[in-house]
Amino acid sequence: MTTTYRHSAAFNDLAALLTGQLVLPEDANYEEVRQLWNGKVKTQPAAIARCLTVQDVIHTVRWTRSHNLPLSVRGAGHEIFGRSLLENGVVIDLSQMKTVTVDPNKRTAQIQAGATAGDLIEAAQEYGLATVTGTISSVGMTGLTLGGGYGSLNGAYGLAADNLLSAQVVTADGQLITANAEEHPDLLWGLRGGGGNFGIVVSLEFRLHPLTTVLSGLLLYPLDQARTVLHRLNEFIATAPDELTVRSGFLQIPDGLTVLFLSPTYCGAIEMGEQAIAPLRTFGTVLVDQMQPVSYNELIHSSDAFTPKGRHYYLQTQSLKELQTETIEALIEQGLPLPSPFSAINLHHFHGAASRVGVSETAFALRQDHLMVELIAAWEPQDDEQRCIQWAQNLSRSLAPYAFKGGYINLLDEQEQERVRLAFGSNYERLLDLKQKYDPDDVFRSTIGHLAPNSLTR
Ligand SMILES: Cc1cc2nc3c(=O)[nH]c(=O)nc-3n(C[C@H](O)[C@H](O)[C@H](O)COP(=O)(O)OP(=O)(O)OC[C@H]3O[C@@H](n4cnc5c(N)ncnc54)[C@H](O)[C@@H]3O)c2cc1C
Repeated sequence: MTTTYRHSAAFNDLAALLTGQLVLPEDANYEEVRQLWNGKVKTQPAAIARCLTVQDVIHTVRWTRSHNLPLSVRGAGHEIFGRSLLENGVVIDLSQMKTVTVDPNKRTAQIQAGATAGDLIEAAQEYGLATVTGTISSVGMTGLTLGGGYGSLNGAYGLAADNLLSAQVVTADGQLITANAEEHPDLLWGLRGGGGNFGIVVSLEFRLHPLTTVLSGLLLYPLDQARTVLHRLNEFIATAPDELTVRSGFLQIPDGLTVLFLSPTYCGAIEMGEQAIAPLRTFGTVLVDQMQPVSYNELIHSSDAFTPKGRHYYLQTQSLKELQTETIEALIEQGLPLPSPFSAINLHHFHGAASRVGVSETAFALRQDHLMVELIAAWEPQDDEQRCIQWAQNLSRSLAPYAFKGGYINLLDEQEQERVRLAFGSNYERLLDLKQKYDPDDVFRSTIGHLAPNSLTR
C-alpha cells in the first residue's frame, strides 16, 4: 500500500475535492508543512490535506476511509510525540482554520479548530475578556482543551476544558454534529478532557471572563536555597486564593546559571495581588524579581522564545499531590544539573475552581489539588539525545512512587497506555462506551488519551 500511494496520482481525486491544498511528498513545501513543533519527529505522511473549510474535512475523512488509509488530525502541531502525523497516512491539517469570533454580550468566543491560545486571547482582549489557556501562545487550543488544559488561570476559572461550552465535530463516518448541553451532551462530556478519540473537532465555543491585566512574572532564587523555598511554597499553596496560581521549577538563565523559579499569576485587583504574592519574596534571596502588571495576552507570549519550533524535545510527566521532602529531594538530586541549557522542570499548580469540579462532571478525572510536573528535555540535533531522554525518564521514575497513578494525557506517549487508563480513573468505562458509540472502528487511534475500543480489557 505504501508504494501505491506515495508519489502517485492516486490522490488526484481527493485534491480535486478540496478548497485547501493537498500537499504530497514531491511538493516543494512538503517538508515545511510537515514539520511539527518537535523537530525530533520525522514521520512522513503520504499526504497532508490543508483544510480550509468543514467540507474539506468531511471530504478528506470520507475519501481516506474509502481508501482504507490511516488518518491523523493536526491543529497547531504541538503534541510532543508527534501523533498528528502517521507514517504513510493522511493528515487532516486544520492549522489554517483559525478564525475567532467573540460575542462580548454573551461573553463567549467561537474558534475554528486550528486557532492557537494566542489567536483566541488576542481577539478576546479587544473586549476586556479572556479564558483559560496554557502558558505558551502558540499551543493549539483544541489539543490543549481535549486533554484538559493547565494554565495560569486554573485556580480562578478551572481547566480550559471546563470553559468549553460547545463543539462541532466531524465523526468517523463524515457527519457534522454539534455537542453541547442540548445536543450530544455525552460527547461534550467526553471532549472535556477525554482526548481526540471521538471525531474531528472543527470549531469550539468557550466561556470568556472579564480579564485584561494580571500581576505576573518570574521570581528567581539560587539553587542552594531551593529546598527551603520549595518547602515554604508547599505550605503557601495549600491556602492560596483562587486568583493566585503559582507555577514553579528549574531553568537555566542566559548567563548559564541554573535557578529555581516561581512564576505566580494573580488575576484580580493588582494591589490585592501584591499582598498575596508578598510572602513569596521572603522565602529566600530573590536574585531577580520580574513581577509586574501585564496584559494576559503579553503574559502568554512572554515565554514563547524559550520553546522554539524545530528544536528536539522529549517530555515525561508525573502529577504530585504535594511537594513533600522526598519529591523535593528527587527534583534536586536527580533533576540537577539539567541535561542541557534548554531543558527545564516545570510544575503546574492545579487548585481552586479546577479542583472543585466533580470527578464525573467532565472526562478529566484528577479533581484534587496537585502539581503537574513536566520534565522537559530539549536539545539541538547535534547534541547527546540519549543523555537528555534518560534524564527525563530517570527523574520521572524517581517521582513516580509519590505521584498519582496515571498522568496528564496530553503529555503521555503511546507506550503509556496503562497510565492513560489510570488517568481517566472512574470515568474510564464511560469513555470506552463513548468511543464505541462515536468511533467503533477506532479511526482516531493516533491521538492523545487513546482509547482502544476492542483491544483493552474492561
Ligand atoms: C511548548 C509547549 C507548551 C505547552 N504548554 C502547555 C500548558 O501550559 N498547559 C497544558 O495543559 N498543556 C501544554 N502543552 C501540551 C499541549 O496541551 C499538548 O501538546 C496539545 O496536544 C497541543 O495541542 P495542538 O493542537 O497544538 O497539538 P497537535 O499536535 O496539533 O494535535 C495533537 C493531537 O490532538 C488531537 N487533536 C488536535 N486537534 C484536534 C481536532 N481538531 N480534533 C480532534 N483531535 C484533535 C489529535 O489527536 C492530535 O494528534 C504544551 C505543549 C508545548 C509543546
